[in-house]
Amino acid sequence: MELQYSPAEVAFRDEVRNFINANLPDRIRQGMLLGGTLIREDVIAWQRILNKQGWAVSHWPVEWGGTGWSPIQQYIFTEELQRAPAPRPLAYSVYMLGPVLIAFGSDAQKRRFLPRIANLDDWWCQGFSEPDAGSDLASLKTSARHEGDHYLVNGQKTWTSYAQYADWIFCLVRTDTTVKKQQGISFILIDLKSEGVTVRPIETIDGGHEINEVFFDNVKVPLENLVGEENKGWDYAKYLLGAERINLARVGVSKERLLRVRELAARQQHKGRPLIEDPRFREKLAAIEVELKALEMTQLRVISAESHSNSGKADPASSILKIKGSEIQQATSELLMQALGPQSMKWSAQAHDVTDWTSTITGNYFNWRKVSIFGGSNEIQKNIIARSILGL
Ligand SMILES: Cc1cc2nc3c(=O)[nH]c(=O)nc-3n(C[C@H](O)[C@H](O)[C@H](O)COP(=O)(O)OP(=O)(O)OC[C@H]3O[C@@H](n4cnc5c(N)ncnc54)[C@H](O)[C@@H]3O)c2cc1C
Repeated sequence: MELQYSPAEVAFRDEVRNFINANLPDRIRQGMLLGGTLIREDVIAWQRILNKQGWAVSHWPVEWGGTGWSPIQQYIFTEELQRAPAPRPLAYSVYMLGPVLIAFGSDAQKRRFLPRIANLDDWWCQGFSEPDAGSDLASLKTSARHEGDHYLVNGQKTWTSYAQYADWIFCLVRTDTTVKKQQGISFILIDLKSEGVTVRPIETIDGGHEINEVFFDNVKVPLENLVGEENKGWDYAKYLLGAERINLARVGVSKERLLRVRELAARQQHKGRPLIEDPRFREKLAAIEVELKALEMTQLRVISAESHSNSGKADPASSILKIKGSEIQQATSELLMQALGPQSMKWSAQAHDVTDWTSTITGNYFNWRKVSIFGGSNEIQKNIIARSILGL
C-alpha cells in the first residue's frame, strides 16, 4: 500500500487548494474559523459555488453529477475543505440521503430530488433518533399508517440537526408492529411544510441552536415519498450510517485545529516565554499530532482497501476511525482551552457577537462533547469493533 501521494495526486491537491483559496468568500472562512452553528445562507452560497464547479456531489455516480474521482481524490478534496476551513457540502443530503436515493430510490425521486440536493435548493435534515431510540435505533416508534393515497405519520424525532433551516426531513418510521423490530421500519421523505409538523429548538451546552425536536401530528405523506420497499428501511439506514461514520474521522478538521493551537501558543506567554516553547506543552501537542498521523494512515488504509473491494459494504474499521477521530477532535479542543488559560473562563454562552476566534474556544470545547455521541456513540462503535473485527 502506498501512503505517499503520487505526483498526480499532489497536483490534484494543489488544484483544489487553489480553487478554494480563489473562491471561498472571506466572510464564510471567518465564520468557519469561529466554529459553532452553521449559517444557512453561507452553506448554501458555498455549495452553489462548488456545484457550479461540478464538485458539490463529487462522490456520486457521474450520471448524477459526480466527478469520477478516485477514493483518494475524494479524501484530498474533503481534507482541503476542512483545512481551509470551508463548509462541506451539506452532509445530510449530499452524503446521507443522496447515495440512498441513488441506490434505492425510484426514478421519479432521483430526477426530482438529486439535482436540487446538488444545488442545495432543498435543505434536508435527518429524522432517525427518537427520545427512546438513539443507540437502540430499531426501537423507534414514530408510526406511518397506510391510508388511501398517503401515510398518516404520528410521533416524535429528536436531536434533529439544523431542522430549523430545513425544507424536508428523511425519516425512519414504523410501518409494521407485528414483526421483528428491524423488519417493520420504512424510509420516507416528509415535506416539513406539511400540516401537523412542529419543530422545537433544543439549546446546546454552548448556548447554540443546532439541534431540535420534530413532532408529527397526523401528517399526511404521499405514498410516492416512500423510498424503496416498505419495511426495508433498516437496510437503507445501515447503508447510510456506514458512509456517515467514515466522514466522522474529520482528519482535516483536527489538522486545522492544531494549526490554531500552534498559532495561539506562539502568542500566549508562560513564565515569560511563548507557551509554544514550554516542554510540557510541546509534549502534549506532539502526542496529539502523532495520534492524528496514525489516524490519517488508518483512514488512507481503509480508503485504499475499499477502492480494491467490490463488497459495497462499509468497512467495520470505520468504527475505529470514528472513535479515534472524535477523541482527537476533543483533545484539540482541550489543548486550545489550556493554551488560552484563565482567559477561557471569560466565555459566556450568551455572547454570540464574537469577532475573534479565540473567544469561541471555550464554547467550541463544550460543543465538541457531541462528536463522541452523534453518528453512533463511541461505546456503540466499540461494540461493533468487538463483534465485527475481534469476533467476540
Ligand atoms: C449534536 C448532535 C446532533 C445530532 N444530530 C442528529 C440528527 O440530525 N438526526 C438524528 O437522527 N440523530 C441525531 N443525533 C442523535 C445521535 O445519533 C444520538 O444521540 C446517538 O445515537 C446516541 O443516542 P442517545 O442520545 O439516545 O443516547 P443513548 O442511546 O440513550 O445512550 C446513552 C449512553 O449509553 C451508552 N449506551 C447505549 N447503549 C449501549 C450499549 N448497547 N452498549 C454500551 N453503551 C451503550 C451510550 O454510548 C451513551 O453513552 C445527534 C446527536 C447529537 C449529540
